[in-house]
Amino acid sequence: MSERAVYRTRFAPSPTGALHLGNARTFLLSWLRARSQGGEILMRMEDLDHPRVKIEKVEQVYADLRWLGLDWDGEIMVQSRRVEIYREIFKVLQQKGLVYPCFCSRADIQAAQSAPNLGDDLVYPNICRDNKSNIKAVAAERGCAWRFNLQDCRILKYYDNFLGWREADIRRTSGDFVVARTAASGLISVAYQLACVIDDHESAVTEVIRADDLVNSTFRQRMLYKALGYGFPEFLHVPLVIGNDGRRLAKRHGDSRISCLRARGQRPERLLGWLGQTCGLCAKGEEVELGELLSRFELGLIPKSRVTVTAADLEYLGF
Ligand code: GLU
Repeated sequence: MSERAVYRTRFAPSPTGALHLGNARTFLLSWLRARSQGGEILMRMEDLDHPRVKIEKVEQVYADLRWLGLDWDGEIMVQSRRVEIYREIFKVLQQKGLVYPCFCSRADIQAAQSAPNLGDDLVYPNICRDNKSNIKAVAAERGCAWRFNLQDCRILKYYDNFLGWREADIRRTSGDFVVARTAASGLISVAYQLACVIDDHESAVTEVIRADDLVNSTFRQRMLYKALGYGFPEFLHVPLVIGNDGRRLAKRHGDSRISCLRARGQRPERLLGWLGQTCGLCAKGEEVELGELLSRFELGLIPKSRVTVTAADLEYLGF
């Protein structure tokens, strides 16, 4: 493998919703981390589950980031244009016998839960792992999901560049997980976990930066790196931004869309100052330019706890 001389990370927005305070903080930190060491940051649009996403939504994400002053390097990678590549690589997992078809509905899985749900996701109790029924006939009729078989998986451990050592037994916290789906038409579409691994590998990303709600995905993705014979990138998970009910920031916590601030003519320095404050880089009420934030950036200053957005914060920011 070639030497990893260049530091490289990426933005990986999904155009499902507008960019809000939470995404903005994660992206700002990714940018600061890359630029503070003269590294690169790529842009990848994760529009796989949303092929009919309107182009305006995608453009809005870019415009919101640019408004904050965040730039990126090279061509934008758009996942919906890469489905053929993903299919080919999925076949490798199939040929290696590492995935199996699953015909369970969400209701089937819910009904089979024996242990309390340990994570945000349903834990799949591997019902179809040894399914010997007429797979071809069922698949042709209603399609199927393809699950990665964790039978030989042990407790997994990795070093996170922000959180330190992390350990999980994903046989208990996730169960065999979905990497692709075959529609009744026979068409295969790969799921986030697999597409993300392929893209980060093919873009030669050296450090994956994202919010800490995706730590569980990291364990699954590391299984895929191994299965495909890819070298691991490093991982860095930053604390998630949450509402005052402790849940991931969402519409119900009030409008926190960056486009809303833009439309109101708010200055980005106010938001940058607030975000900087949550990262230990600014004083309360300070407004700051991006270049100034960059000169102050130090990973070690970022508080380890999640960031709670209050109604007062939203008001201060001009929402
Ligand atoms: N597209 C994902 C999101 O917006 C991020 C995935 C990743 O960074 O790996 O939550």
